[in-house]
Amino acid sequence: MRVGVPKEIKNHEYRVGLTPGSVAELTAAGHTVNIQTGAGLGIDFSDRDYQAVGATILPDAPAVFRDSDMIVKVKEPQASEIALLEPRHVLFTYLHLAPDPDQATGLMKSGATCIAYETVTSRTGALPLLKPMSEVAGRMSVQVGAHYLEKEQGGRGVLLGGVPGVAPAKVAILGGGVSGVNAAQMAVGMRADVTIYDISNDRLAELDMFFSSQIKTQYASSAAIAAAVKNAHLVIGAVLVPGAAAPKLVTRDMVKTMKRGSVLVDIAIDQGGCFETSHATTHEDPVFEVDGVIHYCVANMPGAVARTSAFALNNATLPFALRLANLGAEAAMRADPHLANGLNVMAGKIRHQAVAEALGHEY
Ligand code: NAD
Repeated sequence: MRVGVPKEIKNHEYRVGLTPGSVAELTAAGHTVNIQTGAGLGIDFSDRDYQAVGATILPDAPAVFRDSDMIVKVKEPQASEIALLEPRHVLFTYLHLAPDPDQATGLMKSGATCIAYETVTSRTGALPLLKPMSEVAGRMSVQVGAHYLEKEQGGRGVLLGGVPGVAPAKVAILGGGVSGVNAAQMAVGMRADVTIYDISNDRLAELDMFFSSQIKTQYASSAAIAAAVKNAHLVIGAVLVPGAAAPKLVTRDMVKTMKRGSVLVDIAIDQGGCFETSHATTHEDPVFEVDGVIHYCVANMPGAVARTSAFALNNATLPFALRLANLGAEAAMRADPHLANGLNVMAGKIRHQAVAEALGHEY
């Protein structure tokens, strides 16, 4: 198959659909890979790096779409990219169509087969192509939290791990799923005093076994969260109710009880956020203050560590990209129901039940 990778054009997106390592796997399997010139430059993959593993470098996106059967990207296609899609194309990327009717209409009109990373499933019912980004955001949350606790950043002037003779900072993590666990791993590594709050007793039991005495766990009742927020130096919001807006676990009144210069990192901001005082921010202007408490609410945290994120994403997407290239989209989806769950649009119709319902389309 001819596989094409255009340069990402969404604002401040430096990741790339295929790393040179992934291209090497595809070319070794006999596929042609077309890379738009400069597609990987933002994370220091040169055209030469791609040529060295057998890719063909093309001058612009129209050439990549023209000469390729499958397009592999990172972010949802922008209007100029949708205009290049034809019925013969397979598009494999994040789409997040439910809140984006314009994109959905464009993809339906294109006639292309559009497979969304975020709805591909695994045998355990998890979302394996979303997981690496939750891992990145979870690990990053402690790094940014530690940064904003510094006095120069307006923080309380507290070192997460303390020092001998001075107690470590208290870190409260709301939600013990993928991002919460990754946050806890970092916070434990920095020797903070970590408590994870969740409403799943099974999850709390797993976390208790996994971390042993390195962390504390507590059932996420409102009273427990109120007490946690009051005492914590760093609160990380990492909850998810699949398909729904994040529950507002921390009210404005709770934020008022917090110490001046403490920090909230709302990872769940892409689902509306779990602090009542949150609103989405960007990497250019990541924080704001409410009642003396610093809020970090960047909706696309992995973008800040685009190189790590591109490798992590490729590790998860490559096996599926290879299967799509080897078998063709229809046969690959027939052979793998989890990949088939990624199908969002085909031949002008929405083909994913939840996406169709969210958009008010028939399924
Ligand atoms: P996950 O499903 O692995 O974990 C969510 C956890 O929240 C589960 O353990 C669940 O039991 C718990 N939970 C649900 N309701 C709760 C409640 N009321 N109180 C306490 N715990 C509750 O989810 P995840 O992959 O860790 O993702 C978490 C959030 O981070 C999602 O909204 C995801 O989209 C988001 N995310 C954001 C970024 C970013 O850049 N901001 C990046 C990746 C993921």
